[in-house]
Amino acid sequence: MHMETSQNHTAEPASGLLNWLRFSRGPQFPDEGEDLGEEFVSESDETNVSGDPRVELLNRVGDFLLDNLLAISAENLTAAHSICSGSDPQLAQKARCRARSKQPITQEWLDSVVSGQGEATTNEQYHDMMDRLETDLEAFAETTKGAYCSSAAYGAHLARHASELVNLPPADTLVAEIANLTKTMLERTRRVEEEMRRSETEAAGLRRSLAAARHDAELDHLTQLPNRRAFEGILAKQSEEAKKTGCPLSLAFCDIDHFKRVNDLHGHGAGDRVIRAVADALSRTSGDTCHVARHGGEEFVMLFVGLTAVEAKQKLDGVRERLARRNFVNRETKQPIGSITFSGGVVDVIGFTDPRDALAAADGALYHAKGAGRNRILLAS
Ligand code: GH3
Ligand code: MG
Ligand code: MG
Repeated sequence: MHMETSQNHTAEPASGLLNWLRFSRGPQFPDEGEDLGEEFVSESDETNVSGDPRVELLNRVGDFLLDNLLAISAENLTAAHSICSGSDPQLAQKARCRARSKQPITQEWLDSVVSGQGEATTNEQYHDMMDRLETDLEAFAETTKGAYCSSAAYGAHLARHASELVNLPPADTLVAEIANLTKTMLERTRRVEEEMRRSETEAAGLRRSLAAARHDAELDHLTQLPNRRAFEGILAKQSEEAKKTGCPLSLAFCDIDHFKRVNDLHGHGAGDRVIRAVADALSRTSGDTCHVARHGGEEFVMLFVGLTAVEAKQKLDGVRERLARRNFVNRETKQPIGSITFSGGVVDVIGFTDPRDALAAADGALYHAKGAGRNRILLAS
């Protein structure tokens, strides 16, 4: 999984976003962030100016990646978050030692310490981090927008005063001094505006990277279908919707029959192509009202919106029969693979308080379909 951005920050590590935060230090941004104790601070406390601990953390994560010239990738964001928030004390400690000994934090170093962490960066942590980063970015965008509007209005006032002062007849030195001060403030305000514009652009870029990462994280790369995680999200949403509307909703759990034989006789590559062919066959039924996902291995799950289990079974039987009539040949060796079949279990989701129990019931029906001889779809009892 990767989500590197095409942006290259090597030219100017100090970002507009960070500069804006520095500029905006003032009474409207009291420096009262929570005590983050042992956190690793990549640069200096100068960046702690927002008062909002989430923006502060976002700032540190951004600082860490930009100042160390690291790519904005899913792995690096996770590591930077673990280090900057202190959620992984061991990793934070290593980064602190590295910084203290004035050694660079390179990609190579980060990869080596992260891989040595065991499963410190789990999938769940990664998604959780993305959720929080997205929320922080939204909050940041709101703050920036508000500050930008105020600053623009203030700048316009200053500009008017400056031109009025310049147009006054030559007077005493006090007026000249006021005119000079107004000019200086106007220039400063314009710089702040420029920094805020850059911050907005950078935040928008980060949001796009996050959206791409999220899409990437929910996609099965072999079949290009949504993965199990994405499906769980769809299932939860659709089952809530069905509860509200009372519309039928059914779910199928499918598994390719004797798939191990394909791998054993024709190799893993041919096995992969068979998985893709079954994914395609199932996808052809999908659309707005039918969601197909790869649950893992040679297993697929399907959600039929607006169909009862009986209707979904009929539909799925059609796919199964069409697939079973095809004759597969190993494209590389020209050896016949023969027919490919799958078994499935179907259940009505309505009636289950937790949709995960519906998934388990469909899996139970699939188990019976296998026991009953395979190449069949059974309804959950
Ligand atoms: P059954 O009819 O009972 O389902 O038998 P089966 O052989 O299909 O089931 P089993 O669970 O024993 O084997 C599934 C195999 O799928 C085991 C695993 O090596 C293989 N597999 C899992 N993921 C992949 C993959 O991405 N590609 C390939 N080629 N094989 C995979
Ligand atoms: Mg299986
Ligand atoms: Mg199988």
